[in-house]
Amino acid sequence: MNYPRFLEQIHADIGPWLEKGRVADYIPELANVPLKTFGMAIVTMAGDVFRVGDADYRFSIQSISKLFACAMAFGLVGDSLWLRVGREPSGTAFNSLVQLESENGKPRNPFINAGALVVSDILCRRFVSAENAFVEFMRRLSGDKTIDYDLRVAESELRHSHRNYAMAHFMASFGNMNMPVEVVINAYSRQCAVAMSCVELAKAALFLGNQGIVPSTGERVIDETSAKRLSALMLTCGTYDAVGDFVYRVGLPAKSGVGGGIVAVLPGEMAACVWSPGLDNYGNSLAGVVALERLTTLTGRSLF
Ligand code: GLU
Repeated sequence: MNYPRFLEQIHADIGPWLEKGRVADYIPELANVPLKTFGMAIVTMAGDVFRVGDADYRFSIQSISKLFACAMAFGLVGDSLWLRVGREPSGTAFNSLVQLESENGKPRNPFINAGALVVSDILCRRFVSAENAFVEFMRRLSGDKTIDYDLRVAESELRHSHRNYAMAHFMASFGNMNMPVEVVINAYSRQCAVAMSCVELAKAALFLGNQGIVPSTGERVIDETSAKRLSALMLTCGTYDAVGDFVYRVGLPAKSGVGGGIVAVLPGEMAACVWSPGLDNYGNSLAGVVALERLTTLTGRSLF
């Protein structure tokens, strides 16, 4: 597979799309990132790394963290996770409160904010510092010990966390929160504020396409069935309420974040990560979706 040529071609074609999106500004610190940046990386199961543009620039992973936090929690508590969080697409915005009341404080899935807060609650219960455990996990998966969260981004989010507080308190009122809400929101905001590059994120996601094992180290992260289940959840719930359109266009399980990153996995072959901070109306990187669509079209490789 001539990934270098495909990446070059995508990079050459992506220009017009870079100006069309809008940088997330509800977390003020995220609004400082220049709009017209673009990076993309592909890491194969064999360990080959291909990159283009700003693929080594560390950006705020935001909701991409939900995928990895969910892997941690799923590994810890197994199927009992689903007593507290559903696994259906929500069809509503990632930070919406509307379903929580009619569904008795049980979030639709772990990739919307409410579901991710339940996941954080599980991690806060298990670890003295859930945010440090998360950072350690990301260092292990990507093989880079310098990965950390960006305190300025975390604090910027914390100052604007009214909706997340509302969700967490609401879930607490239904008995779906075990730790103090402040502790959970703090850990969640720091987890979202982890800064990683496209190359690092693609490396970190490889285990999902490799039956739960990190290919470069042989470390088992989760069992084979759990890896399949998490990948299925990415496919159905990973790209906000535009997930149907995303899967139609790209054909890969993926997780996006409002920092402009999208990580995608082609089981058995590779993981890709694209970053461009201009978002579409749903919160997905506008150029990122186009780039992944181009990738699966040019290579003729997707799930389908
Ligand atoms: N930290 C962000 C929030 O809670 C994550 C949003 C996202 O990337 O979808 O609003």
